[in-house]
Amino acid sequence: MHIDSGRIVRVGDVDDVASGANVIDAGDLIVMPGLVDSHVHVNEPGRTDWEGFETATRAAAAGGVTTLLDMPLNSIPATTTVSALREKCRAAEGKTWIDVGFIGGVVPGNAGALGDLARAGVLAFKCFLVPSGVPEFAHVTEPDLREAAPILAALGLPLMVHAELPEVVEAATLDATAGDPTRYATYLASRPAAAEHEAVALIIEIAEVTAMRAHIVHVSSARTAAMVRGARDRGVRLTAETCPHYLWFTAADVPDGATEYKCAPPIRAGDDREGLWQALADGELSMIVSDHSPCPPILKRRDVGDFFVAWGGIASLQLGASIIWTAMRDRGSSLGHLVEWMSTAPARLVGLDRRKGRIAAGFDADLVFFDPDAEFTVQAEMLLHRHAVTPYLGARLRGVVNRTYVRGVLAYDRLDGPAVSPPGELLLPPHS
Ligand SMILES: [Zn+2]
Repeated sequence: MHIDSGRIVRVGDVDDVASGANVIDAGDLIVMPGLVDSHVHVNEPGRTDWEGFETATRAAAAGGVTTLLDMPLNSIPATTTVSALREKCRAAEGKTWIDVGFIGGVVPGNAGALGDLARAGVLAFKCFLVPSGVPEFAHVTEPDLREAAPILAALGLPLMVHAELPEVVEAATLDATAGDPTRYATYLASRPAAAEHEAVALIIEIAEVTAMRAHIVHVSSARTAAMVRGARDRGVRLTAETCPHYLWFTAADVPDGATEYKCAPPIRAGDDREGLWQALADGELSMIVSDHSPCPPILKRRDVGDFFVAWGGIASLQLGASIIWTAMRDRGSSLGHLVEWMSTAPARLVGLDRRKGRIAAGFDADLVFFDPDAEFTVQAEMLLHRHAVTPYLGARLRGVVNRTYVRGVLAYDRLDGPAVSPPGELLLPPHS
């Protein structure tokens, strides 16, 4: 790869080296495009004690992620106005080891701000159909969605949707709360797959009549993938993602009281896990992103082990490539699939597909040196997230990131750790 000013100029033969060029030899390691993670909760400003741009992007670089998209919620303010976006940019500027783009929020009453947010540089929008878990990011109702959808369709940006319907969750929670709140089965029963299916049906209907681009985040149920296929076959502009935790764990793996496994929608049965893998292979699900959503350990309430009071969110930003590569061993997929699902497809979703997600002339030199055969055991000391709470502690994983380059600059080296100065940039239009 010939790299100049952070871009790949051309890909040539191995002995095609200009005199005076600075040569970096990856040896026997795989060189692959840096991962693009379009679903990360960085939480800064406002909840920087949960995570932050420095810690999140260093962890990302260590995991081979070279671009992340920051979700509009869990920071304070939430990114639902242009001034909030500017505040977040000020918090992030000069503190990112990888490139960072932003997602705007769709909340009740901010339809008038969506165009300005798009012009200020958000690459996508996000909404919740159920309570989000934080008071400053309200969930939308069907009328809110019907107001926002034609605006989003005209802007051409995708709406990422947390698809669970509150009526279904509320009714199931009422039934479930008679059970033991420290048992995972009780929590699982409170958020049935039907809540996801009904929400996805609503989104499909709205996307179909408005031509809005919709994207279902963190699909947990195999049946949802079939619904996505049906809609796409009819021409609905719909994509969907799933996350490492739905592809790695099953409900049976979650010990009682182990709130580090709590997320919403919940990790489901083994049939769903295998169905999600099949949906990736079949293209119904097009990408795997982390939904990294950490919190301080105290908020996981491991002391009481109550799934209903614990914060919902799983930390995995640094581990995604290794988790997925390890799980793929038994399923006959190649590294090419991993690159498609974790780099190329997310870049396409957020409109970065002419810069990110491929090794080709004209693309940013975002590169990972990956050892596909090396193994390691996940230990708290190696995690660069602000908090080491994660259900993957102790997991034996295959696939080690040796080096990560962001636009040709070394961001992380396995032996030396993160680079001294952060090479990342904010992915904003030049004028903002
Ligand atoms: Zn999320």
